[in-house]
Amino acid sequence: LETIIKVFPPHGWIDLENYSGTDLDIVNAAKVSFVKQSDSFEAAEERVLNFLMRERHGSPFEHNYFKFHVRAPIFVVREWQRHRIGFSYNEESGRYVELRPDFYVPETARTQEGRPGAYRFEDGNEAQTDQIRTAVMMHCKNAFRYYENLLASGIAKEQARILLPLNTYTEFYFTCNARSLMNFLELRMSSHAMYEIRKYADAMYKLWAEVMPQTAKAFEHHGFVAP
Ligand SMILES: Cc1cc2nc3c(=O)[nH]c(=O)nc-3n(C[C@H](O)[C@H](O)[C@H](O)COP(=O)(O)OP(=O)(O)OC[C@H]3O[C@@H](n4cnc5c(N)ncnc54)[C@H](O)[C@@H]3O)c2cc1C
Repeated sequence: LETIIKVFPPHGWIDLENYSGTDLDIVNAAKVSFVKQSDSFEAAEERVLNFLMRERHGSPFEHNYFKFHVRAPIFVVREWQRHRIGFSYNEESGRYVELRPDFYVPETARTQEGRPGAYRFEDGNEAQTDQIRTAVMMHCKNAFRYYENLLASGIAKEQARILLPLNTYTEFYFTCNARSLMNFLELRMSSHAMYEIRKYADAMYKLWAEVMPQTAKAFEHHGFVAP
């Protein structure tokens, strides 16, 4: 199983480091209601799985875990960590380690039209792309130089870091189960989600679907399992 996807090479990636659980475990978690178990995943099990997904029976989807290791820009992680239920997090500490000079630079400028709740985002033109890329690179370079100067003067890492921009990469672990993962995917694979977090959600979906192909198929067909 290929467990790592480079979302924004070279710095942005997601790695499914560890996992447990299968499509069959979900079906068997539901079948315990009737004191029954299946040994293999066949057409009958597929029907049960689809029933659970369609009727929003959420708890059978919780007896499994997916531990991901991620490197993403802070502005992406800030959205990510809004997902509170069934998610455990641990993140690199800018108080304890010197942050690396790795910054997210967009490939293309993005324009924004419309009003809140109905924005349309489109690719900017070449001049706008040049403008944002140059501004971001210059700003990051300067910010990091100031950061290093402060550290060299003996300022604490926790204080010096406050001038680093939101596109600085950070690294974190998160662990969830298929139910909380689907809630994340439903919200973050949507066209309403920010482009950068959508790219991570798409990668997360691919990794998860390798482990639970039938559940992923039912998820695509019947939508998410509401929490
Ligand atoms: C397109 C988009 C735009 C957004 N814009 C903004 C924004 O402008 N500002 C902003 O602050 N956030 C914004 N968010 C974040 C959003 O409000 C949610 O915090 C985030 O998507 C996490 O979703 P969640 O609450 O379902 O996830 P989780 O925190 O994982 O919760 C899972 C589920 O548990 C239940 N639950 C969790 N906590 C509670 C609770 N306290 N009480 C009752 N039920 C609970 C709910 O059913 C919830 O769906 C945005 C999200 C998206 C996808």
